[in-house]
Amino acid sequence: MSTLVIAEHDNQTIKPATLNTVAAASAIGGEVHVLVAGHNAGAAAQAASQIAGVGKVIHADGASLADGLAENLAAQVLALAGDYSHILFPSTASGKNVAPRVAAKLDVAQVSDITKVVSPDTFERPIYAGNAIATVQSSDAKKVITVRTTGFDAAAATGGSAQVETRDAVADSGKSAFVGREVSKSDRPELTAAKIVVSGGRALGSSEKFQEVMTPLADKLGAAIGASRAAVDAGYAPNDLQVGQTGKIVAPQLYIAAGISGAIQHLAGMKDSKVIVAINKDPEAPIFSVADYGLEADLFTAVPELVHQA
Ligand SMILES: Cc1cc2nc3c(=O)[nH]c(=O)nc-3n(C[C@H](O)[C@H](O)[C@H](O)COP(=O)(O)OP(=O)(O)OC[C@H]3O[C@@H](n4cnc5c(N)ncnc54)[C@H](O)[C@@H]3O)c2cc1C
Repeated sequence: MSTLVIAEHDNQTIKPATLNTVAAASAIGGEVHVLVAGHNAGAAAQAASQIAGVGKVIHADGASLADGLAENLAAQVLALAGDYSHILFPSTASGKNVAPRVAAKLDVAQVSDITKVVSPDTFERPIYAGNAIATVQSSDAKKVITVRTTGFDAAAATGGSAQVETRDAVADSGKSAFVGREVSKSDRPELTAAKIVVSGGRALGSSEKFQEVMTPLADKLGAAIGASRAAVDAGYAPNDLQVGQTGKIVAPQLYIAAGISGAIQHLAGMKDSKVIVAINKDPEAPIFSVADYGLEADLFTAVPELVHQA
């Protein structure tokens, strides 16, 4: 039994979601190998070899893998799949783009979004926006799995010393081409990897107020900024800040929700946070039912006071 983890990386560094996925692979047992498929990705392969618990890094390097096109990456995984009982992807936008292609080609049922390994063939995964946990047993010979990264503590990024094995990159499928990428630049920590997240809701009322109230708090705490879907839909915050069922799943050490009611779709994205602080002027707001600390207050006075005190 051995497991192949598909690394998420930018050809230089390994993205944190890979570390949680390695932890899930370690929980399955057996050898853990990591595939770094990219172009000029030697630095990322070296970084992967340092991850604790990794037995081998497979480094496939070529122009076809430069931009993470799902068709080519899936073909690369399929070229290696014969050697593995389990193939694990982080449950990120990229992982969710590639894993179903691999599962379909292998003619197996994908097990999605696992949060716990019960045994090598049995896994837990949240359903109904996290309101129930399903235990799923797979009888497929090969298991293609996506891992909800907040369900597993990250493997240590250093301490390992795996050998790096080079493999030929697959040929370009010709089915898609990379056109361009617009990446939002921010000095803040990435939302899904941040230790502290401060999120604003519809109560902020405008994009200007969202900036004016939430940014100083994030700056003071060195936090990432998140938002409810209502705030995003209203244009107060950009789409990539949305936390929740249809946004990002976060589990920071500290999550501060300001002017967010706590709809189940929002809770689905943050209720595994270690400490939750809610600021809301409605004492009946559902967010208080998951909050460790609740402040019944007007956020327009409470948040600046917090910034002042912190
Ligand atoms: C299929 C589906 C998927 C969804 N996915 C998501 C998702 O991923 N993420 C998500 O967030 N939502 C999601 N939603 C939407 C969700 O149901 C809620 O509509 C949304 O979360 C509400 O956002 P909100 O809490 O900011 O706004 P509201 O529900 O309007 O709440 C605003 C809160 O602010 C409080 N408030 C108002 N003024 C102040 C003030 N001055 N000071 C302090 N508190 C104040 C109010 O008491 C209220 O509790 C989804 C819905 C559906 C149907």
